[in-house]
Amino acid sequence: MRFAELSSPQLAALRRGPRVPVSLLPIGAVRPHGPHAPLGTDQLVSQSMCERAAARLATDEHVRVLILPPLGYGVTRCATDGAVGIGQETLHSLIVDVCTALGEQGLPRVVLVDNHSAPEQLATLRRAVHTVALRSGQHIGHLDPARHPVARRLPERFRGGQCHAGRCETSLVLAERPELVDTARLRDAPDRDGSPAEATGAEGESTFDTLTTMLVEVIRELV
Ligand SMILES: [Zn+2]
Repeated sequence: MRFAELSSPQLAALRRGPRVPVSLLPIGAVRPHGPHAPLGTDQLVSQSMCERAAARLATDEHVRVLILPPLGYGVTRCATDGAVGIGQETLHSLIVDVCTALGEQGLPRVVLVDNHSAPEQLATLRRAVHTVALRSGQHIGHLDPARHPVARRLPERFRGGQCHAGRCETSLVLAERPELVDTARLRDAPDRDGSPAEATGAEGESTFDTLTTMLVEVIRELV
């Protein structure tokens, strides 16, 4: 299911097969996530959502999910504490180039899966989707949790983009990679959507479940 682990003949066979290939592009950012969570939290969450969606659709008759190598850098105004940002034009070009290259090889169905969701990042992704549509008529899927109807089921702060490094996002990391959360520092972490100290892996699993349902819907809409 990982695109870059396939050989050219294996990819060609998938393209000719009965299931429609849909490529997922996990996107994140390198930026601080409080004193307790990893800098690459956003990519970690995106990547895990892609893997969970691929697992759910593993035996689907219609869809064949492929996970592209992730885009770990994003647009961030933060420039301290380990933040490594790229410009909006850089991100825009990267996404447009990747989607166009796939489209030219008979793989036009791509879904952008982002969890950084800063306003400047979201605006760039929406613009990239628009640019690709204008240039090649290719329709790119974009899972935008804030605009998705299933978002009602997510914790309210998540929808408002206030999830950053708070209870909700920390729960997601605890569900996926608990060893990356510095629990000794959780009590010092600022309160954003409830104290990160209240985060649990179980809550993270439940949020992942909702996010994965949303992603599967976006994938099905493309096919
Ligand atoms: Zn984050």
